[in-house]
Amino acid sequence: MLKKGVFLFLVLFVTMFVASCSKMSKKENSSQNFVMPSDKLKVLSTTTIIDDLVAKIGKEHIVHTSLITGQLDPHSYELVKGDDDKISNADVLIYNGLGLEHGASLKYQLENAENSYAISDSMQADEAFIFVDGQVDPHIWMDLSLLAKAVIPIGKILAKYDPQHEKQYMQNARELEKSMLALDKHIEASLEKIPKESCYLVTSHDAFYYFTRRYLAKESERSSDEWRKRCRAPEGLAPDGQMSPKDIGAIVEYALSYGVQVVFTESNVNQDALRKVVKIIKQKGSLADLSREPLYGDTMGEVGSGAEGYLKMMKYNSRIIVEHLCKNHEGSLL
Ligand code: FE
Repeated sequence: MLKKGVFLFLVLFVTMFVASCSKMSKKENSSQNFVMPSDKLKVLSTTTIIDDLVAKIGKEHIVHTSLITGQLDPHSYELVKGDDDKISNADVLIYNGLGLEHGASLKYQLENAENSYAISDSMQADEAFIFVDGQVDPHIWMDLSLLAKAVIPIGKILAKYDPQHEKQYMQNARELEKSMLALDKHIEASLEKIPKESCYLVTSHDAFYYFTRRYLAKESERSSDEWRKRCRAPEGLAPDGQMSPKDIGAIVEYALSYGVQVVFTESNVNQDALRKVVKIIKQKGSLADLSREPLYGDTMGEVGSGAEGYLKMMKYNSRIIVEHLCKNHEGSLL
């Protein structure tokens, strides 16, 4: 029995090792392809979300990759070995802006490159952006109708550097914009299923303000600041700060006042703060638990997660929120 067990363990280990090597190899190939000589337009994005939009607009006419991969935190990303090569090989560099990429080494490159473009520059600040404690919230991708405003401008940027394929870029951009606006309406309708008394979202960090304003709040709340009461997080706009007992206490108080029974973990954020929140709520005699599955706030999911690709990520997040908050309303814990 022992030998059989050891054999099965070895088979499992080898399978996981080969799968891991294969995944790593694909990532390396993607980066290597980018720095190899090519006649195609080379587009480097900071995040995988922007890279996904660029890929759908550029299709076969471009070579593309992103600097910040996997579940790395885009807020505090600093350049690593190999990034300089990617940047110097890029014809165009596209980033989010609004202070998302605030790691000093990356910020310096973005601000000083003549071929860098922030997608947030294509949006009207007064109507679009959310401010938290005087700081602009960079998580614009959480509202499909808002990020859709960046799609045609991305098409124009690609066309500026590669006029030969302008027609295809603009056609692809228009199709992507249409898909994003259709999904925006679909998610809006899906989230209307959640009773408004359950529409209170507690997440790890402040990544879901745009999502809340667009999809969780009542129409009447959007024109004022009333919608803000519908989401809270113990960590701020960037999940890289230290939390005080006061921060945790504020979330517990919020959860108890609005009857929040589930708090949503995020794929790339440590769960310690939310575990403390749940523990204290339970000590106070109320129901609380972590979400069964994490939300994707700052990053897309890995292949097989159901959240790979920007549109899939938005669908996934909406499904998880509907499932959990609807059960919450029925009074059953997950
Ligand atoms: Fe974030």
